[in-house]
Amino acid sequence: MKTYKIACIPGDGIGKEVVPAGQAVLQALANASQLAANSFKFDFENFGWGGDWYRAHGEMMPQDGLAALRHKDAILFGSAGDPHIADHITLWGLRLKICQGFDQYANVRPTRILPGIDGPLKNCKREDLDWVIVRENSEGEYSGVGGRVHQGHPIEAATDVSIMTRAGVERIMRFAFKLAASRPRKLLTVVTKSNAQRHAMVMWDEIALQVSKEYAEVTWDKVLVDACTDRMVNRPATLDTLVATNLHADILSDLAAALAGSLGLSPTANIDPERRYPSMFEPIHGSAFDIMGKGLANPVGTFWSCVMLLEHLGETAAAKILMGVIEQVTADKSLHTGDLGGKATTAMVTQAVCDRIRQSAV
Ligand code: ATP
Repeated sequence: MKTYKIACIPGDGIGKEVVPAGQAVLQALANASQLAANSFKFDFENFGWGGDWYRAHGEMMPQDGLAALRHKDAILFGSAGDPHIADHITLWGLRLKICQGFDQYANVRPTRILPGIDGPLKNCKREDLDWVIVRENSEGEYSGVGGRVHQGHPIEAATDVSIMTRAGVERIMRFAFKLAASRPRKLLTVVTKSNAQRHAMVMWDEIALQVSKEYAEVTWDKVLVDACTDRMVNRPATLDTLVATNLHADILSDLAAALAGSLGLSPTANIDPERRYPSMFEPIHGSAFDIMGKGLANPVGTFWSCVMLLEHLGETAAAKILMGVIEQVTADKSLHTGDLGGKATTAMVTQAVCDRIRQSAV
């Protein structure tokens, strides 16, 4: 029997509620698999890093934290964010430290309108919105290069320099073209801003063209990031796989999640495609302090992240069962949480998913 070592990092806010829910669902799948030929189990280890750890230790995670994660098969992450700690500290001290430390350069964000969910777009049929956004996750606007001088004086100056490398752009383009080629429509949209940003984004476009030649089966086009927002709202069916820079994709994927019904439904995977390091799976939403500790968080984005985690581990049968169960549960409006206009709690949705898993054979 295979045993997968999973690191669980709930982090802050509702991360502390949705990660245990995800763990319960993974455990239910492992239990169900004991009846089948292909059985597996999970060896979970929890790490209490985040805002509380920062208050106690002055850092979001220990100096040797990456070493503790290094030999795990995957990481299930909640969120990092604390109303009393500056956002750049919570982000750089935990999530980005792991993403960059493990060179998880491909951030993959699927978006679909799940059964039973009403998105805000009128005239948008469920099948019109079926996207995967690939976010460059290692450089660009999040390179961390820059500085501040003369703080507090009228001559104060500050820079955030976006660094793009040929190696970094080539590898994310190749990942995106390959992903597009694996999807039925074989359609890729390269998001750019090369009209205004005339150096790095022009290189981005040139490399897209160069890599496209390796993937003749993929139909691709290019769109400016501003025009892309219009296209997502008004012509969603013209899009399938998208690739964008770190910042552009961050913004576009929140829009995508909102158009699919709620931030609480969407998953994301931070992948090291070369599998040198563990990859990390997390819901797209943040810590949502307004609803934390009340049992109201929608755990579906975390469950869908668990589907991506299972696919990454090669447990495709279990991944398929979980996705099917998620769709049964979203189709039932009595299991909708507050973000979807319902009254269900995190515990109710988690229980419903675990019960249905128990009824399915893995
Ligand atoms: P952060 O600063 O950590 O990114 P945030 O609170 O600014 O977090 P999000 O958590 O991403 O932003 O979400 C914005 C709002 O959407 C929340 O305040 C909450 O009301 C709602 N929301 C997000 N995720 C969920 C969820 N899983 N279930 C229910 N509501 C959610």
